[in-house]
Amino acid sequence: MFEGMKSSSLLDRDPRLVDIMCSLDNAGKMPTGVASEIREAVALARRFNEAVARPYALELDRKMSEDPTYIPWDLVKEINRWGFYTAWIPKIFGGKGWNLGSITPVVEELCSVCAGIGNLIGVQYFGLSILFAGWNMRITDKVCREVVEGERSGEPCLVAGLVTEPGAGTDAEEVELLSKAKVRCHARRVEGGYVVNGTKVFISNGHVSTWHMLIAYEDLERPEETMILFAVKNGTKGFSFGRMEKKMGQKGCPASEMIFQDCFIPDEDVCISASQMKGLKRGAKGTGMQLIDFVVSLTRPGVGAMGAGVARGAYETALRFARETLVDGKPLVNHEWAQCLLAEMYANAALARLTYMECNHVNGLYGMASLLNMKPMYYYMRAVPTAVLDRFMPAVNAADATTRIFRKLVMDGQTEEEARRASGWASLSKFAATDLGIKNCQLAVEFMGRAGIRHDGWAEKFLRDSKLLQIYEGTNQLNRLNLFKCMIAPWVPEAQVFEE
Ligand SMILES: Cc1cc2nc3c(=O)[nH]c(=O)nc-3n(C[C@H](O)[C@H](O)[C@H](O)COP(=O)(O)OP(=O)(O)OC[C@H]3O[C@@H](n4cnc5c(N)ncnc54)[C@H](O)[C@@H]3O)c2cc1C
Repeated sequence: MFEGMKSSSLLDRDPRLVDIMCSLDNAGKMPTGVASEIREAVALARRFNEAVARPYALELDRKMSEDPTYIPWDLVKEINRWGFYTAWIPKIFGGKGWNLGSITPVVEELCSVCAGIGNLIGVQYFGLSILFAGWNMRITDKVCREVVEGERSGEPCLVAGLVTEPGAGTDAEEVELLSKAKVRCHARRVEGGYVVNGTKVFISNGHVSTWHMLIAYEDLERPEETMILFAVKNGTKGFSFGRMEKKMGQKGCPASEMIFQDCFIPDEDVCISASQMKGLKRGAKGTGMQLIDFVVSLTRPGVGAMGAGVARGAYETALRFARETLVDGKPLVNHEWAQCLLAEMYANAALARLTYMECNHVNGLYGMASLLNMKPMYYYMRAVPTAVLDRFMPAVNAADATTRIFRKLVMDGQTEEEARRASGWASLSKFAATDLGIKNCQLAVEFMGRAGIRHDGWAEKFLRDSKLLQIYEGTNQLNRLNLFKCMIAPWVPEAQVFEE
């Protein structure tokens, strides 16, 4: 029936192969070193889980429940010592330069024991991804080198991402909704910089961070056209920490309120402003949207990996219980119904993992750090010793021309179609994997019943931790709509998304 039709036109039909099987295109392009880096990174995470996270996770939850103002400095210092806070900082900024594709499997490992500790590590890269997204090479170099120095000195230097406000959550993270968002964090232009007023809430790691990547708006009536990104350091006059939230789960990771009252931020700490965005291909509004999209496309699969982690943790808890519990004179694990249920839970964790692994391929091809995945760049970075790069990169990064070149290459270089694919897959992973995580936690609790909850406390912990994942980085409902917008609506001419 299709005789005479070209294969390419068949493959371009909805669903387009290039949209639904990104791993196929990336497989040949992926540098061979990536696989061994992932193995090394996962091994390190497993070592850390055994030595630090597993013996401490339940005690940390108890401590935080008894005193929600407790700040887990001991743990932050230990994580710093293990090198997690600099591992994925590119070598051109002084970091270890591990491939970004190895973050998500590490996050899964960590969250298979404790999503709070997983977030205490993972969210460093939410803050850093906001810093990277502005492609201001001078400030990125400055902040990253302080993080690296913090690891060397034993005084952790963490980076937080400040987006959410009391009146704007999902809408501040969803490109189509920003124009309707009730944002209040205002930046007023003054001589030599900006004066910022406003409050940010639910900021992971806020109280333990040194640098704060702040998104504000020069005109609150037109936030989508006037976005501005600052790097704000602790101690800046007019910037203070507010309360720490008393959370139901992920207790080990502080969620902070951050307050800006007539806070002066000098021009040198502006990462990117609307006037700088105007010079780029998409203009101020389009580039602001691209900046958000860069961040969420990279970090929503990280939340997907957290979902995969809790799905696995719940499964492993149920399996342990089934091996240790006798029912009708034989181990529960030898009852057929229990085996079917455990197989279902195993499959849920595997499916959640597949979503974020596909996103790794998508981001490797089209995301904001795809440049680092190109074979010549990747091998050059691996071959050149950090000490050599450290000698000349700070000066190169400080030059305005470097920022201009990277913005042209990365921001103007990304096509709308590539952005759509990265954003759609990221949302898919975020909601699908976190829903699977919650499903497994509920299955584990049902499977084990009251006896199971008393068994060792882990099943209940996983359920508490998992619930928050549905909210984090835009609610799952909104991520479903973003997937519809990116992957379905282009083929449905009458579809109007985010219209209600
Ligand atoms: C564990 C955790 C860590 C976090 N860490 C950070 C952080 O480090 N930095 C940061 O900036 N933020 C952080 N957040 C905040 C998080 O990003 C927001 O909570 C999230 O974006 C959702 O926003 P919201 O809570 O205001 O809910 P809302 O967006 O107000 O959503 C509430 C409900 O309304 C629905 N809804 C909202 N808008 C629409 C619409 N237009 N159409 C239909 N339905 C809609 C949602 O689906 C949901 O059911 C964190 C949150 C959690 C839970």
